[in-house]
Amino acid sequence: MGIDIGGTKVAAGVVDVYGNILAEARRDTPGHDPRHVEAVIAELVTELSRGYRIRSVGIGAAGWMDLTNGTVLFSPHLAWRNEPLRHNLERILRRRVTVVNDADAAAWAEWRFGAGQGETRLVCITLGTGIGGAMVMDGALERGRFGVAGEFGHQIIVPQGHRCECGNRGCWEQYASGNALGREARELATANSPVAQALLREVDGDPQRITGAVVTKLALEGDPASRELVDDVGQWLGLGLANLAAALDPGTFVVGGGLGAAGDVLLEPARRAFARNLTGRGFRPAARVEAAALGPSAGLVGAADLSRLSPRLSRGRA
Ligand code: BGC
Ligand code: ZN
Repeated sequence: MGIDIGGTKVAAGVVDVYGNILAEARRDTPGHDPRHVEAVIAELVTELSRGYRIRSVGIGAAGWMDLTNGTVLFSPHLAWRNEPLRHNLERILRRRVTVVNDADAAAWAEWRFGAGQGETRLVCITLGTGIGGAMVMDGALERGRFGVAGEFGHQIIVPQGHRCECGNRGCWEQYASGNALGREARELATANSPVAQALLREVDGDPQRITGAVVTKLALEGDPASRELVDDVGQWLGLGLANLAAALDPGTFVVGGGLGAAGDVLLEPARRAFARNLTGRGFRPAARVEAAALGPSAGLVGAADLSRLSPRLSRGRA
């Protein structure tokens, strides 16, 4: 079983050894109390266990993990500070639990079963509440010395820019995430711009109800203002990918998460900005920028697979 804990939703699923989801359930991420999140996880495990023999349970959580003991050190989107998540869940569920970062889980799933298959140097970006980042290098997740590598979303790309939940200003995820898309659209709508009419209609005139998902839906339906908003986010995405290519030189970037549903409406401007900003462009091979194949379920599939293959991640490489 895999469980993906994000800033807005908790998704759980029973996953077979081929990465197929046999049963799935979702809840909103409850409030800010870690105890409530644990209660929801317990509920989902009980609900989904009916009718299946569960071999292992893996959690992907939107936070920075101490992999030696399964503690969530910090999370910009959840009120977790030095939270002994693995310990607490093992006590509640009375079974062993594997805990990893949500983006690591998604990247693993895309490498094993999705758009990253066969790639020896894969960088995966998940766009949702924030930007998740992860690397699968030569078949292993690259987590850095302390387990918190891949926090690409908190690279400062606009000094003194938008305030980020991590406490800094100008982080990449303030410009190229689902949340950033929602914020920009709300700003457009509250400016009373007539171009925001379709957006406002979609939320019965209440600009505060505009989210990244609303904008993505309208962009796919062809609303010009929503397309422009997604285009802007795509350009920020491409710029950040060019920076990552300068540092990491991957063969493929896989882009997923909720906002990944925008497909080429997002990825085309991202590819253009990537090509335009890549250092040494024209004189070097460039990574491919591909859409994720597993959609928003990648995180739970990867968490399940990692728990099966490598129950104690600190003791080995997946
Ligand atoms: C967090 C990451 C997480 C990502 C996606 C970021 O803000 O720092 O740990 O993977 O959001 O949820
Ligand atoms: Zn930040």
